[in-house]
Amino acid sequence: MTQAHLGDWYLARGDGIRVARCRLLDECGGFGHGFSCRDGGGVDKPAAVLAAAGLSGRQLRILHQVHGARVVCSGADGGIPEADGFLVRRNPAGPVAGIGTADCVPVLLADPVSGHGAAVHSGWKGTAAGIAPLAVALLAGRGVRPAELKAALGPAIGGCCYQVGSEVVRAIGGVGVENRGGEYRLDLREAIRMQLEAAGVPAERISIAPWCTCCENGLFFSWRRDGDAAGRMLSVLGAEA
Ligand SMILES: [Zn+2]
Repeated sequence: MTQAHLGDWYLARGDGIRVARCRLLDECGGFGHGFSCRDGGGVDKPAAVLAAAGLSGRQLRILHQVHGARVVCSGADGGIPEADGFLVRRNPAGPVAGIGTADCVPVLLADPVSGHGAAVHSGWKGTAAGIAPLAVALLAGRGVRPAELKAALGPAIGGCCYQVGSEVVRAIGGVGVENRGGEYRLDLREAIRMQLEAAGVPAERISIAPWCTCCENGLFFSWRRDGDAAGRMLSVLGAEA
């Protein structure tokens, strides 16, 4: 089961929409963040999402996400990179990193000490490829101590709704998988939580949003529930102006 840290999470309003926010990241002075709901269409309302996240008027950079394990620098030039993660600096002149999801896990990492952070898209393929711990390793290469990082794992499909086949169980090494009478249920965020802990992020600095996108029809899009008609939520991380 997903460990719900209800107390860490709340819904903030701004510009007519709601975004989920995590108090762990609120305490990372100078970083702004938010995980959009389906209000206003999520990724279709980037300006409203930025406003509700406290990042009004900032430049937003997004990725062409391909369920891989490539992480790029959000400040680098050049269009929309094919990748599934951004490294972010707490630099008010720099861009805000945006991740689109509809069941996959948006992972936001921030180091309040050094001002480095990362925004990652981790579905089962990205989790199997270890994109979240890769982001931690890349941040460590910039001088970040993993023990200083705070990690927020946003709204995503829970183990309650995510039935997967044996090929997924194999790819992910069984991590986060529960066998219920021969049916496999994958709790992606639990798998990522374990990866981050193994990478040196302390358990008490990792928080999982208390919502399953597939259960919460009124709040979130879900690819598993709605198929190709599903919209995408937008999760953002950047420096407050
Ligand atoms: Zn569910």
